[in-house]
Amino acid sequence: MYAKDFSEILGSISRNEKIKSRILRLIESEKISGKVTEGDGRVEALREILASYFNLQIDLNQAISDVEFKIPRHYSPHENNNRVFPQGWAERLIRTSVSRFYNQAVLMEIIESGGTECFIPHSDFESRDSNCSKYLAGSKQNASVMLERLLSAYRDGNWTNDLKIPDHPHCTHTVQPA
Ligand SMILES: [Zn+2]
Repeated sequence: MYAKDFSEILGSISRNEKIKSRILRLIESEKISGKVTEGDGRVEALREILASYFNLQIDLNQAISDVEFKIPRHYSPHENNNRVFPQGWAERLIRTSVSRFYNQAVLMEIIESGGTECFIPHSDFESRDSNCSKYLAGSKQNASVMLERLLSAYRDGNWTNDLKIPDHPHCTHTVQPA
C-alpha cells in the first residue's frame, strides 16, 4: 500500500485510491515554489503533467519530455541562469515534485489518522553519502516535523539545511506509516 522508495510510488498508488485522490487534490490546489516554474502558465503546465503521471497516463520519461516541451527553458524569466537550469533540470523538477506530493499526502494521512511517527526505509537507489541516507533512512521520525519541513521548502520556498524528505532532487526516500 505504501512505497518503500521512489521506484514504488506509482505501483503503490495504483493500489491505494485514498492516497491517489489526495495527491490529485494537492496537485490542483497547493502552491509550488521554485524559480523554474516562475512565469506565465508554468506552474499550471506542471500541475497537468503531474496529474497525468499520477493518473498513470504517462511514465517518468514522458513526464520529463513534457516538462522540456511545455515548460521550456527559453520562455523562463531565468533562462540565462544555469543555477536555475542545471543539466537535467527537467528530470530534477519532475522527481522532486512527484516525491513532494506523494510524501506530503502520506504524511497528511498519517497525522489525520492520529499517528505521530513515520518510518523512512532505506532505498536500494539511495546515494550513500547523502545526508538523508545517513541520518533519516532506516529511522522513525516525527511526522509533523517532516511535513512542516516539506511544506516550508517545496510549498513556501524557504530553503534551509533541515533534513527532510525529499532532501535533494534525486532523493529516492519515502515516508511510511510507522
Ligand atoms: Zn533521500
